[in-house]
Amino acid sequence: MIRKKLSKVSLTIALLVSVFNALSFGQVGLSANEGLSVILLGTGVPIPNPARATACTAVLVDAKVFLVDTGRNCVVPLNQAGIQDVEGIFYTHYHSDHFIGLGEILLDLSIDGIDKTIPVRGPVGAQEIVGAIIATYRLDLSYRLSHHGDKFSDQVMAPSVTEHEPGVVLEKDGLTVTMFSVCHPPIEPAVGYRFEYKGEVVAISGDTVVCPELAAGVRDADILVAEAENAQMFGPALGMARRDGDSRRLGMIEEGMEYHAETLALAKMAQDNRVKKLALTHLFPSIPPTDAAEARFIQGMSDLYKGPIVVGRDGMRVDP
Ligand SMILES: [Zn+2]
Ligand SMILES: [Zn+2]
Repeated sequence: MIRKKLSKVSLTIALLVSVFNALSFGQVGLSANEGLSVILLGTGVPIPNPARATACTAVLVDAKVFLVDTGRNCVVPLNQAGIQDVEGIFYTHYHSDHFIGLGEILLDLSIDGIDKTIPVRGPVGAQEIVGAIIATYRLDLSYRLSHHGDKFSDQVMAPSVTEHEPGVVLEKDGLTVTMFSVCHPPIEPAVGYRFEYKGEVVAISGDTVVCPELAAGVRDADILVAEAENAQMFGPALGMARRDGDSRRLGMIEEGMEYHAETLALAKMAQDNRVKKLALTHLFPSIPPTDAAEARFIQGMSDLYKGPIVVGRDGMRVDP
């Protein structure tokens, strides 16, 4: 009887240990992939939402993983997706919700033993941002190295950074990544990316209103991962700010709405430019991940766009 109990206890402990290992040391493993695919890791905006990390998208190129932006808390869905290595990182612009999670991601890879220099590419500003984040890890890095020795990988905490103008920024092993300008005024530079591999195209909008530059960058994409704003859903918040005579709040909301991609304009642009699948991210307002909220968010889009529309949730995989 006692023996039975003990074995049950040890079984439970073994189970807990294996779950802990899988969760803490990234042993879940990314499921197999061929060609291009996407995992939406962070679908939120700066307004805190427990269900959504901020801007972060994984582009899978066969078994390789590239990240576009590294937002707040993105390390959690990244770990849950089983991503154990990163081939490169691309930045769209330097609003903090697009880069603030970089240190957490690199630290996670270091703990997992990834020992290599990760190339980071972005428009002008990348050196300043990445350099400053890495600088905040100086003490942390010294503690971990003196404690763990060479079990802790420090190379990953020193990424290589290159700043680019729009155009082809990476061409390797059949993959071409092109940076294109988008329209996020007054933020300059602001860009999107187009990944082309084995005849497939994945485009990432970055933060932008719908504009001709965006349309040119995403034309004929198999998947367009697009930031999206539902202007209608701001009605109540705008009304309340007006009723309260709160011009500061009113201004903040209106200015926030000014430089994002309105859902109906986005749908029309996607249809006109033969986008085959639309995956929405950077959802503004930051709706809960429920069917009802998502249905409201895309209301009217299907009248203008005939392809499939995916409303992103953190960790969601989107295939062409
Ligand atoms: Zn932005
Ligand atoms: Zn943003």
